[in-house]
Amino acid sequence: MSDSDATVANATGLRTPIVAVLGHVDHGKTTLLDKVRGSAVQEGEAGAITQHIGATAVPLDTIGEMAGELVDPDDFDLPGLLFIDTPGHHSFSTLRSRGGALADIAILVVDVNDGFQPQTLEALDILKRTQTPFVVAANKVDTIPGWKPQEGLPIQQSLDHQSDRAEDRLNEKLYEVIGQMSDNGFSADMYWRVQDFRSNIGVVPLSAMTGEGIPDLLTVMMGLSQRYLKEDMSIDVTGPGAGTVLEVKDEQGFGTTIDIVLYDGTVTGEDTIVVGGKNGPIVTDVRALLHPRPLAEIRTEKHFEKVDSVSAATGIKIAAPDLDDAMAGAPVRVVRDRDVDDVIAEVEAELSDLSVETEENG
Ligand code: GDP
Repeated sequence: MSDSDATVANATGLRTPIVAVLGHVDHGKTTLLDKVRGSAVQEGEAGAITQHIGATAVPLDTIGEMAGELVDPDDFDLPGLLFIDTPGHHSFSTLRSRGGALADIAILVVDVNDGFQPQTLEALDILKRTQTPFVVAANKVDTIPGWKPQEGLPIQQSLDHQSDRAEDRLNEKLYEVIGQMSDNGFSADMYWRVQDFRSNIGVVPLSAMTGEGIPDLLTVMMGLSQRYLKEDMSIDVTGPGAGTVLEVKDEQGFGTTIDIVLYDGTVTGEDTIVVGGKNGPIVTDVRALLHPRPLAEIRTEKHFEKVDSVSAATGIKIAAPDLDDAMAGAPVRVVRDRDVDDVIAEVEAELSDLSVETEENG
């Protein structure tokens, strides 16, 4: 493996859970993702986060530092969290893995003042249909009248600094959110009261702007993943890779490339892959695996550096011939020592599932 290998899978073969952020427009999805990235960078450690293609990996140690006393990294053996950078339920529902949702876990962002809005309900429907475990981020607590912002603190500590009046106002709003969850068939409660996150959805009050409550969110996400996803996260890290296309892009010097999220196994620069295309599966040979350069080096001419191989879960750009017809949302499979016709059949089957879904969703 090269130094720049973006692999976050650990020795036990547990991969990083893939996290998606959903919610109504303007409720703060982008701000939340930026804050998670920004806070992780602020921790200042080398390797605090790794910027992937289309995704951001926050390793367990960094989550431990951000979450302070809320997280003891020794309690976890999942390697961290991989956030898909494109928020919104349109990207969520088109991104599949073997028929299920690509994201293993989700954050539903709700503006605590604005409450449930049409896209909140759409997102809830999709989460229900895909049976994706999720938490509700009750965002913008800093806009509660009389709120005194507490940059980056866990929410309970921030509440210690608030007036009774502000705390009461927040609670009122939070109970409205819990009520709206119940109206939609979900039992929910403040996350610190939730014992079983499968039967009860945790609500995390936070501000994507000031960062208060973000430590709690990361803690809950790690806890939820650890408890309920661990088996799903056990993979043969060295097996033939499987992934989903995020985007098809022209890159100078590389021609048409695909940005993928790899959710299983490994892909190397030597592999033959099968990719879902507009006119059926495309069989092609990887020419280069490309990873974004660290921000510090971005002033050099080249935005990408080549890596020899990557393992799930990760975001990576693949340059290869014949990718012009590749489609966002389509499957990608590494052939390795399998019969190429079997892999083509697998990709074909998934493509037909995808087109059925698209028709159903109008
Ligand atoms: P998206 O459409 O869900 O991605 O929402 P954005 O992240 O773009 O946020 C919409 C607006 O709300 C922007 O002006 C943000 O600055 C603002 N915003 C997001 N989160 C917060 C928050 O926690 N507090 C406050 N005061 N504003 C926020």
